[in-house]
Amino acid sequence: MTAPPDRGYLPGRSLSLTRATQTEGRAGDADVPTRIDMAKFAKFCKDMGFVYQSSEIYGGINGFWDYGPLGVELKRNIKEAWWQDMVRNPPPGPDGQEIRMVGLDCSIIMNPKVWVASGHVATFADPTRKCPGCGKFTRADQLWAILAESEWMNSLIQEFTPATGQYDTHRLMKWARGKGQKLAPNLALVKNPEVTLSFLATRVNGQPDAPPSLQEFTRYVATEQLEATGLQEPCPACGAPLGEAKQVSLMFESHAGLDKTDESKVYLRPETAQGIFANYRNVLDSTRLKLPFGIAQVGKAFRNEVTPRNFTFRSREFEQMEIEFFCHPAESQQWYEYWRDLRKKWYSTLGIRSDNLKPREQGKDEIAFYSIGTTDIEYLFPFSDDPQELEGVAHRGAYDLTQHAKHSGVNEKFMYFDEERWNADAGTRTTNSFKEWMKTNPPAADVEKYQFTPHVIEPSAGADRFTLAVLCEAYTEDKVPDAKGNEETRIVMKFHPRLAPIKAAIFPLVNKDGMPEKATELYRALKPYFNVFFDDKGAVGRRYRRQDEAGTPFCITIDGQTMQDDTVTIRDRDTLKQERVKMSDVRGVIEKALTPGV
Ligand code: ATP
Repeated sequence: MTAPPDRGYLPGRSLSLTRATQTEGRAGDADVPTRIDMAKFAKFCKDMGFVYQSSEIYGGINGFWDYGPLGVELKRNIKEAWWQDMVRNPPPGPDGQEIRMVGLDCSIIMNPKVWVASGHVATFADPTRKCPGCGKFTRADQLWAILAESEWMNSLIQEFTPATGQYDTHRLMKWARGKGQKLAPNLALVKNPEVTLSFLATRVNGQPDAPPSLQEFTRYVATEQLEATGLQEPCPACGAPLGEAKQVSLMFESHAGLDKTDESKVYLRPETAQGIFANYRNVLDSTRLKLPFGIAQVGKAFRNEVTPRNFTFRSREFEQMEIEFFCHPAESQQWYEYWRDLRKKWYSTLGIRSDNLKPREQGKDEIAFYSIGTTDIEYLFPFSDDPQELEGVAHRGAYDLTQHAKHSGVNEKFMYFDEERWNADAGTRTTNSFKEWMKTNPPAADVEKYQFTPHVIEPSAGADRFTLAVLCEAYTEDKVPDAKGNEETRIVMKFHPRLAPIKAAIFPLVNKDGMPEKATELYRALKPYFNVFFDDKGAVGRRYRRQDEAGTPFCITIDGQTMQDDTVTIRDRDTLKQERVKMSDVRGVIEKALTPGV
C-alpha cells in the first residue's frame, strides 16, 4: 500500500497576526482578540486559504470574495449544520410539539413582479451621499463609522484630543501642508487652512466651557465657507464636502433575453425569502403539510451595497440561510419568541461565546412598518466596539402573503383553511359545512379562527457573516511548549469540531517500520466519513502547528506502539492532551465530537 499523496492544501509555514493594541478594547479572555486589525486578519485568512479577494490578479473587485480550500469546507459545514439543526432536526416547539420544516432551492432571477409586490423595487434603497470632489459614494447613515476607518481621518485625529477638544493650531497647519495634501486633498483644512482654522478658533473661543466633540471638529475642518454653506461633512476618501443624501437602489439589474429593454429587465434577488413566499402555495399543494410549518432556503443574494466594508461583513454577493415559518395569527407571538431564542442558542452551541452575542430588539424608529417585532442577533465582531447584525428574526405578520395575494391576483391561494381546528370544533355548530356556517354571519374573529392569512416569523441569517464571526471567534494565540519544552506562541483556530474544515489529521511518526502503511490504512478507513488529512512531512511538532492553524480538532499519530498493539495517540487541539485509543475506536471518538448539541 502506498501512502496517500499530500493533498498539500495547508500552507507550510507558521503565520503570525499582529493584533492592534487592546488598550481601549473590550474585556475578554486574555487569549481571545478584543480588536483585530481587519486588513491583517484578511491577509491571515488569505495566507491560510480561508478567504481570497475575488479576481485579485486584476486588482480585485470591491465587495466580492472567494473561499479557499479551507474556507469552502468551513462555510459548507456552517450551511450543513444550519440545515441539519433547523430543517431536518429542529428542537421541539413551545408546547413540546414536533416542528414541521421543509426546504426549497429557488432560482436567483424571478419574475420582476415579485420584487414589485415585495416592495423592493420601490423602497430597497440606502441613503447615499455623493462626493463632488472624487465622485465616490458613501452610505449616509454610516458616515461616521466609515470616517473612523478613513486613512486621512486616522492621521488627522493624532492632532486632536477628543476627550478635551484640544488641538494645536501650528500642528494642524503643518498637517494641512504636509500629510493632508496627500491624504485629503479636497478637505477645507488642506485647501484653505487659515480660513478654516479661524472658524474653528471663533467657535472654541466663543464657548470655552463646551469644547468641540470629534464630530464637530471634523465638520469644522471640512468647512471653507461657513456663512454660505453652514458646517459641512467630509468625504471619507478625499475630504471634500459631501452632497445631500439621496435614496439609491441596492437592486442589481440585468436582462433576461437578448433585448435589453425595460420589459426584459430582471433583478438578481436581494434576499432568498421571496422565492419561499412565491412558492408557499406550491409547497402546501405538493405536500400534506399543515400549519404551523416552516420553509427554509440557503442561497445567494445580491445587494449593490454603497460601501462594502469590514472584510466579508458587508459584501455585494453573499449567501443567506432563511426560514419563513407560517403560523396562525393567534400563535404568532409565541413562535416569534421560540425562533428568537432558538436562533441565539444555536450560535452558542457552535462555539460562539454568549458574551459576544447580543440580541437586540429593534426600536420603533428602525423597525419595518409592517413588522410586529424584530430582534437582531448581533455579534461583537473584533473590528468594532458596537455589536453588528448576524441575523434578523422578524415577526412579519401577514404582510408578505397579503402583498403577493394583492399583486398576483390569486388571493385565495394565500388564505389558509384550518381543517383540523374546524373539525375539532364540530360539536359547537349545527353544520360542518364552512360555506353554510358563513351564511349565519359569524363574527370576524370566529371566522379568522378557521380561515386566515398566516402570519410569518422569519429568522434570516447570513452564511458569510457567520463564517466571518466563526473565523474571528476561533482565532487564538496561546503559549505551548515546543519540542525542547520551551514556551512558544502558537496560532490556533479553535473551531467547533462540527465546523472545523478538517476533522482529523493522521501522522505516521516516522516514515519507516510499517508506520506509513498503518497510517494510510487508518486514513482510508476514516476518509469516507470525515474530511481527514494525511501528513508525513517534517517533524511531528511542525505537523501539529500546521493543523492548529487550520483548526483541526484531532491529530492522530501512528507510532512504534501502534505496530505492536494497534493503538494510536489522539491529540486534542485545545487541551493538547494525548490519549491512547484503539485504532478501531478512532471513528467513534471523532463522531462523538461532531454530534449536534442543539
Ligand atoms: P444590514 O443592516 O447589516 O445591512 P439587513 O438588516 O439589511 O443587514 P437582512 O435584510 O435582514 O439584513 O438580511 C439578513 C441577513 O443577511 C443579515 O442578518 C446578514 O447576516 C446577511 N446580510 C445582509 N446584507 C449583507 C451583506 N451586504 N453582506 C453579507 N451579509 C449580508
